[in-house]
Amino acid sequence: MIAPYEFKTLLLGSNNLRCNNSPASDLKSEVVHIHLTDYPIRINTSELYLSSMSFERLITKLDDKERYWRSIEGKTIAVIGYGNQGRSQALNMRDNGVNVIIGNPPDEYRKTAEKEGFRVYEIDEAVKNSEIVFMLIPDEVQPEVFSHKIADNLKQGSAIVFASGYNYFYDLITVPSYVDVLLVAPRMIGFGIRDLFLKGKGFPVLIAVGKDYTGQAEEKLLALTDAIGALKPGGVAVRSSFKEETLLDLLTEHTWAGAILYMFRLYYEVATELGASPEAIILELYGSGELAEIAESMKQQGLFKQLKNHSHTSQYGQLSRGRLFANEKVKQLIKKMALEILDGTFAKEWTLEQKSGLIHYKNLYKMNLEHPMEREEEKLYRLLGRIK
Ligand code: NDP
Repeated sequence: MIAPYEFKTLLLGSNNLRCNNSPASDLKSEVVHIHLTDYPIRINTSELYLSSMSFERLITKLDDKERYWRSIEGKTIAVIGYGNQGRSQALNMRDNGVNVIIGNPPDEYRKTAEKEGFRVYEIDEAVKNSEIVFMLIPDEVQPEVFSHKIADNLKQGSAIVFASGYNYFYDLITVPSYVDVLLVAPRMIGFGIRDLFLKGKGFPVLIAVGKDYTGQAEEKLLALTDAIGALKPGGVAVRSSFKEETLLDLLTEHTWAGAILYMFRLYYEVATELGASPEAIILELYGSGELAEIAESMKQQGLFKQLKNHSHTSQYGQLSRGRLFANEKVKQLIKKMALEILDGTFAKEWTLEQKSGLIHYKNLYKMNLEHPMEREEEKLYRLLGRIK
């Protein structure tokens, strides 16, 4: 029986709450006639949060490395999924001397894992044969895979490691009480994780303990963060929580990352109306790759400090005009998005969207691909040999 939906508005600053949706099994049973009000959001305080800890927030290296690594000594790690994150993290851990096996269905990624020398099992078998499980399959499929193939096969005292806070924060996955729950969420695409590792460099990662059953969750967390290569020079682990990771991840997607796409569309429409050529516009906006260089400069020099790489005219234009787009109305919109993440409104909408056949998602995609800019982009990219 599904309880009535309770709407709660949470203050952004409160760091001791966790949202819970109904269990995945309830969600799966509903296929048609879905109403927003059918899905409950409960709040509990089961996650351990930074505010209750006395640790340093940033970790760039482990001082007493052996102490942490002892917590994973002799343990087998099952990496579930051999895609973007799974492959890179598995290879890095193996190179660091960890015993890694892979859990993957008999699909395309399985062959790659086998070719690269891993023992690959069905997911349930991999979990049975391990003491630590890395959940590195797409977030959307995790609840179902977890409830059917993982939950009952986890050993007492084992650990499950998520690379995203989403499913645990919204309680779409319910982990058995006798298992440690960890978050090791790289701020890096999978390819970058492997590439940096091979260059002897680390990468940023958000880490958290969701549940400490064994009393050793903290040690395991840091050992595993080190094992995937995050703490090599240049890398940093930031103490976080499933809630914070979910908020920051989604807030990026719901604000500037999405806004930039639509902003470029508006720019295109205005500039073509004024007679500019589509090719010049597309190259100006993103086709030239300058955008990636600016992002790299932000990373290396700082958000505003990188402005010095631009001409004075450009700097003055950006400083004086750019700020007009960042007004109080936009700030309130960002806040609204944040609250809708924290109170589960977005998660509920996305769950229902998936269950009802992704109709809205497909329409939005289709609508955007029908924009004249898409055809011009395709022509240009074909000419430049970027697409065939
Ligand atoms: P991928 O999309 O790359 O995962 C692909 C893997 O998942 C393949 O091994 C595939 O196997 C397997 N898989 C797909 N569907 C299923 C299914 N229904 N049942 C079992 N296995 C399945 O995932 P990512 O690496 O992108 O994401 C993994 C986690 O890492 C997520 O939690 C994500 O949020 C997080 N993350 C991802 C980042 C990224 O850069 N992509 C960055 C930071 C965190 P096959 O197709 O062979 O069946």
